[in-house]
Amino acid sequence: MDVTLVTALRDLLETPASVAIYRCVGEPGQQRWLTRARLRVEDTVATADSLWVDPDTLPRLDDVPRRLQSLKERAVIQDREGSQWVTYFPLATERDVIGVLELHTASRPRPASQRLVTSVLRIYHNFQGLLDYSERDTLTGLLNRKTFDESFLKAVSELPLRASAAQDERRQAEVHPRYWLGVLDIDHFKSINDRFGHLIGDEVLLLLSRLMRSTFRFNDLLYRFGGEEFVVLMRCENEEDAAQAFERFRHNTEHYAFPQVGRITVSIGFTQIRAGDSPAGAFERADKAVYHAKGAGRNQVQSHATLIAQGQMSEATHLSDVELF
Ligand code: GH3
Ligand code: MG
Ligand code: MG
Repeated sequence: MDVTLVTALRDLLETPASVAIYRCVGEPGQQRWLTRARLRVEDTVATADSLWVDPDTLPRLDDVPRRLQSLKERAVIQDREGSQWVTYFPLATERDVIGVLELHTASRPRPASQRLVTSVLRIYHNFQGLLDYSERDTLTGLLNRKTFDESFLKAVSELPLRASAAQDERRQAEVHPRYWLGVLDIDHFKSINDRFGHLIGDEVLLLLSRLMRSTFRFNDLLYRFGGEEFVVLMRCENEEDAAQAFERFRHNTEHYAFPQVGRITVSIGFTQIRAGDSPAGAFERADKAVYHAKGAGRNQVQSHATLIAQGQMSEATHLSDVELF
């Protein structure tokens, strides 16, 4: 949608312009500018940063002070920079200001052009709201199950095929990304509902989703799969890093003081996504690891691969059984 927006605006404006959308990403205090779409005067197609870019390589918010000012003050700012005019438009959602649209033009944009951009941004804002409504869980604002399969299959499509990986495993491992799927389930959530009521239970779910946002990285995909079950799809170099991220979340949950309820814990299972995996197959592996964590005392992170290697679980799943026959 960001690409469509910059393309439409460049076509609508009467003067040649470069149009770009920057989003503010990362943890509070260390936020950076992610280029969501940029179309310069000479470009035929828009470019963007990869969603999986390393945040440390992106410019810091205060590297571009006027852009930051537009974001903070929610104000349109216009500057002359050398031979160009730069106009910054804040991009807001229902929840907060998420980024800035930047317009570079050779002459000062006329008030009519500015009004045009503002109107288009209003439409964009409304569409964003509709998209959120269909793709996000209403209680927590996390992604809902509907969008999971698509993101999962996209991740799988970036994995090397088994044959080529076997030919030169080490080199392939360096070049190709690895993805991990984690299933998070609150321990004894039923008893939270029973003791404090559903409203407080819902508040726990909301606070836990905030904890997820602040613990995982901005480009990890966070889902509420329904009830008190959450899913994380992350790109990570190796098993230790993935385990560490899940362990950090387990730790943060255990040490968070939930109003009224006090302390809660989560059980987490995770698995590496394989070439040819189906969303249901990978989910089943992670879910089996959760089941194991529950049986082994809850409040812990279990890796499906490690459980298999230790002989604590068999590889056979319902889905691979189907493949065998
Ligand atoms: P375990 O440690 O084995 O996971 O125990 P548990 O009590 O969490 O067990 P289980 O996962 O079976 O229970 C989930 C409960 O979550 C059942 C239901 O009462 C509650 N629940 C499901 N969806 C919602 C919701 O949207 N809001 C609230 N408040 N509770 C929900
Ligand atoms: Mg459950
Ligand atoms: Mg539970």
